[in-house]
Amino acid sequence: MPESSSDPSNGAGPDSNKGEFQLIHDYFQQQPLHRSDVLLGIGDDGAIVSLAKEKQLVLVMDTMISGVHFPDSTSAYDLGWKSLAVNLSDLAAMGAEPAWLTLALTLPHSDEQWVQKFSHGLFELASRYDVQLIGGDTTRGPLTVTVQAHGFVEQGQALLRNGAKAGDLIYVSGYPGEAALGLELIQSNNRQHPSFELLSRRLNRPIPRIELGLSLSGIATSCIDISDGLLADLHHILDDSGAGANIWVDQLPVSPAYQAVANTESFYLPLLSGGDDYELLFTIPANKQDEIAQIEADISLTCIGEITPGKGIQCLDPSGKKIEVARLGYDHFLEA
Ligand code: ADP
Ligand code: MG
Repeated sequence: MPESSSDPSNGAGPDSNKGEFQLIHDYFQQQPLHRSDVLLGIGDDGAIVSLAKEKQLVLVMDTMISGVHFPDSTSAYDLGWKSLAVNLSDLAAMGAEPAWLTLALTLPHSDEQWVQKFSHGLFELASRYDVQLIGGDTTRGPLTVTVQAHGFVEQGQALLRNGAKAGDLIYVSGYPGEAALGLELIQSNNRQHPSFELLSRRLNRPIPRIELGLSLSGIATSCIDISDGLLADLHHILDDSGAGANIWVDQLPVSPAYQAVANTESFYLPLLSGGDDYELLFTIPANKQDEIAQIEADISLTCIGEITPGKGIQCLDPSGKKIEVARLGYDHFLEA
């Protein structure tokens, strides 16, 4: 039971528990999806699931705070979707198959319509990947959503950040930077822009790359999802793998919408350092390119560079010349 609900100063009277239990029952306990490995879902003190012997469990968690991780104007539906999507993206980056989730929801007040829309967004994405909500906690306070997601990998098959080797090729899925441009259009209230719908959707309804993560098992030497920006997340791979990287700037994937919105002065800035796209960034040995070609039939993948024996990241033009930091506009990420 939440401690805060007995505190009259936050407007929660003794009856508010009823509201809380009713909300959980009416909206979170009603997911149509029921997995056969869930022995006990929402309703008791804890959930019970059964585990296959040959699998390992992968657990991830992400918190989203209003005004910090999403604009206050974000719709309840989008927030429901995204709070799960960012977690499924972490499972994708581990090469895991998602199974269950738990949800800790902190709400400023008991707003039934809001909870209903939130649950619809969450369940829409959950059912796409056969993920069941099996428990959680509901409390009162500033709007905050924490999701924990659970998934499986075959024994020892998880994709980690530490396996990149000099000579490996660096790939990225989709079009990173579109979410950051979507945020720019939202913040400048540029709703008339022809790319507004597409780019704001990239920000609010990211598609976790679950299928890609699963198909990279046995191929990728390292993998991460891009939540903080392509270069920042590539740095995590390089730090853990003890390697450096060359990025071929002319090979970076630029979509028509990106082309239409990105500022020419700092054209690659959103692509290289904008966050929130939840694309996968991964490395493969050069002799596995054929296997990547097969996966590319279903999803756009781009080879953007290579792992080097050095340290840090260098951005190169087609002739191999290092591109001036100032031209790219993100000097704090580059090393000489
Ligand atoms: P307890 O006081 O024992 O922690 P709660 O009243 O918090 O129990 O929760 C009752 C049941 O409702 C539990 O099964 C819990 O997992 C579930 N639950 C509570 N909040 C949520 C939520 N936001 N989403 C999903 N399940 C929830
Ligand atoms: Mg509880």
